[in-house]
Amino acid sequence: MSLFASSVPGKWITSTIAGDTYYVRKLRAMSEVLTETRVRESLQGIQDPELRRTFGELGMIKQVTVKSPQSVEVQIELPTPAYPQRERLVEAVRQALAGQLPPDGQVDVTFTVKVKGKDSGGALGLRVKNVIAVGSGKGGVGKSTVAASIAFGLHTLGAKVGLMDADVYGPSIPHMLGAKGQPAVVEEMGGSGQPIRRIQPIECRGLKVMSMGFFVPPEEAVVWRGPMLHGAITQFLRDTDWGELDYLIIDMPPGTGDVSLTLSQLLGLAGAVVVCTPQQVALLDAVKALNMFRKVKIPVLGMVENMSGEIFGRGGVAKKAAELGVPFLGEIPIEPGLRIHGDEGRFAEIFSENNPSRPHLLHIAEQTAMQIARELLSEPKLPSLEVL
Ligand code: ADP
Repeated sequence: MSLFASSVPGKWITSTIAGDTYYVRKLRAMSEVLTETRVRESLQGIQDPELRRTFGELGMIKQVTVKSPQSVEVQIELPTPAYPQRERLVEAVRQALAGQLPPDGQVDVTFTVKVKGKDSGGALGLRVKNVIAVGSGKGGVGKSTVAASIAFGLHTLGAKVGLMDADVYGPSIPHMLGAKGQPAVVEEMGGSGQPIRRIQPIECRGLKVMSMGFFVPPEEAVVWRGPMLHGAITQFLRDTDWGELDYLIIDMPPGTGDVSLTLSQLLGLAGAVVVCTPQQVALLDAVKALNMFRKVKIPVLGMVENMSGEIFGRGGVAKKAAELGVPFLGEIPIEPGLRIHGDEGRFAEIFSENNPSRPHLLHIAEQTAMQIARELLSEPKLPSLEVL
């Protein structure tokens, strides 16, 4: 008598052989045999909860290995190491395969990451996948704090990250990070046989950092005229030895459009993040910053509310973002520890200890990276810049 004689086709039953219990079933057809192709077919239609497209459309199923009739390994490729709550994907894969494996079958889901980007630095010869500008309508709202948070956040999540302080009027990044020293200038032989001078960024806890603050004493005022500013920013971008980066975060000077225009001309930016405090007056400045980015054709990735709490209120930026049809990337509560860490040059420690600000900062880094991934799907082409 066949082992399956008593089973209904397609239905799993238990069978005890030599004291061990097995799940067995009678196949309805040969097409029910667990194969890589069948597993792939079952997974293609899963909708990615973040990107709102199917695994098939996104090409996310990197590898399927059928190890035995009751054990499958699925490797999923993510567009950024900052992809949040991956357990949702594990659950979706398990559910999609539930009918094909016995109830005690095993589905192992593993992840690989291939950071997607616009190859932002192409024209300048940079090997940087995504350049993100962090701006604000006015100073003091926490723009540098958010720029450093996105940079350290993405680094903490596994990305290769650089941070460029383009806030030439008040370069605060070196102080916040406790990054000291003067970047070395190294001469390299270029492709045409001509020597090229490359500036070595300062390494700070795995981050490559460049700032005018490394060259100018903090108490010294620098007066920048337009062409000089353009030259300095170009040099910082082009001549710094950034190496290969997944993300380069640029801390912009507040308000002004000059640097945005320069960046827009030099790079295909992934987009800009606009930082704002929740009260009404600050929101007006944020709208100006948004319009400024739009004018120079830098896509706006979203808005961040900083210093939420009793003093400035809460929720104003999310409301404004919804009104303007711009994504809201998260909020950072006002928290003395955040200021103290920055003041003492220990900003990076917020990411390595049980700090109350940490989840908020990581959330913003994740949302920024995911918004880039979404934008890449919806606008594969770079906008061309009109002459202003
Ligand atoms: P900006 O770059 O917009 O001028 P900064 O990031 O330099 O602003 O922040 C201004 C000051 O506010 C800094 O002392 C910083 O530590 C502090 N700060 C920023 N965000 C917060 C926050 N959420 N809670 C407490 N202090 C903050």
